[in-house]
Amino acid sequence: MKDENTPIAELRRAVRDLCREKHWGRDGDQDPRQVAMAMTVEMSELLENFQWMEEDEVERLWARKDPERIARIAEEFADVMMYGLQLTGTLGIDVASELEKKIEKVRRRGENYSAEKQRMRDEFEKRATGETSDH
Ligand SMILES: [Mg+2]
Repeated sequence: MKDENTPIAELRRAVRDLCREKHWGRDGDQDPRQVAMAMTVEMSELLENFQWMEEDEVERLWARKDPERIARIAEEFADVMMYGLQLTGTLGIDVASELEKKIEKVRRRGENYSAEKQRMRDEFEKRATGETSDH
């Protein structure tokens, strides 16, 4: 499986098949509370790979010159994703449409922020040149 040709639904099915093989949960669906908590634990394991990193280590990571650390991060990310796919599958959450909605929401937030920033810049300039908009 590769990102380029694997739909999210296929990944979710593979995780569910694993859960069924292991006899976890009800027909492969585990308690969503437990799954959400486990996801946080796995996220902490992922973060351990960044704990106390020096700037040069960050630069090496950024340049993809630390394959061992990247492999550890990838494994923990897979744990987080497995639980994320379980949680969204159990609750009937469509990951693609939720991501699409979130991207649009953040995009609009950016527009508002940019508009507010421009308004503040204009206001600052008016005050600097002696103009006021208070009346
Ligand atoms: Mg782990």
